[in-house]
Amino acid sequence: MTEPAPAYLGIQGLSKVYGTRDGPVRALDQVSLGVRRGEFLSIVGPSGCGKSTLMMIAAGLVPTSDGAVTVEGRLVDRPRTDLGIVFQSPVLLDWRTALGNVMLQAEARKLESTSAERRARALLASVGLDGFERKYPQELSGGMRQRVSLCRALIHDPPLLLMDEPFGALDALTRDQLVLDLQEICLQRRMTVLFITHSIAEAVFLSDRVVVMTPRPGRVERVIDIALPRPRTLAMRDSPEFTGYSRQILELFLARGVLREPGQTPGQTPGQTPDRTPDRTTVPA
Ligand code: ADP
Ligand code: MG
Repeated sequence: MTEPAPAYLGIQGLSKVYGTRDGPVRALDQVSLGVRRGEFLSIVGPSGCGKSTLMMIAAGLVPTSDGAVTVEGRLVDRPRTDLGIVFQSPVLLDWRTALGNVMLQAEARKLESTSAERRARALLASVGLDGFERKYPQELSGGMRQRVSLCRALIHDPPLLLMDEPFGALDALTRDQLVLDLQEICLQRRMTVLFITHSIAEAVFLSDRVVVMTPRPGRVERVIDIALPRPRTLAMRDSPEFTGYSRQILELFLARGVLREPGQTPGQTPGQTPDRTPDRTTVPA
């Protein structure tokens, strides 16, 4: 075993409690993890386990209740500008073209316009939108709109990309293509990516490591190294290695009652699954 590289993005003892009309809601409980520089790290977990909260805290957009987030050792205590964010909804301006929407980010950052536009066009071409630069969002498909939002997030060449279920609203085929496109983009740049998803297959396909979260309050249930060669291909999804990783994550959800097999009552673990004594890969809560 080699020594792990120091964390680029460090999350230490992070807890978040929201005050609501019905009393406090604990969204995250003592989450600690480190994302290495250049790593693609996914977080999978059931709805409501605090994934979006974790991402918003990492971006400096939501304050913590306890614990800290650091980037290269520096505390994140305000909104960060040196990152790209992609949400499930592309959030494009209807009155701006595809190119205009990508350029919005360049304008906000006061990037030199000629080189920014060249870059925006190259980015759009790299995700298959060559020839669509002058189209308005309503003239684009859902997948195309999400591609535009990815280009907008990348125009300033951020070292860190945060993605919150970016493909969640897309049909399966479009989703597969976007996953492949994202992999290609990540192979070309040395970005660090924090990718949030509830798709086990997507997480295994894209990641160097997958963090599996518990139901709310979200804790780190397990961190799984995905030792599949790159580039990964769609055909690899049927390989025993790939299905083995998917099964491992599925078993964690079954054990927590996040998913239930037919005949399994809530809270009961399936009979065929082994004893769940935490092993050395389990991160203590
Ligand atoms: P996920 O992204 O995993 O679905 P979220 O981070 O969106 O989870 O939410 C985690 C929990 O925190 C949920 O119970 C949600 O209702 C609650 N929550 C999220 N944002 C707020 C907020 N601004 N105010 C109050 N409760 C919130
Ligand atoms: Mg969410």
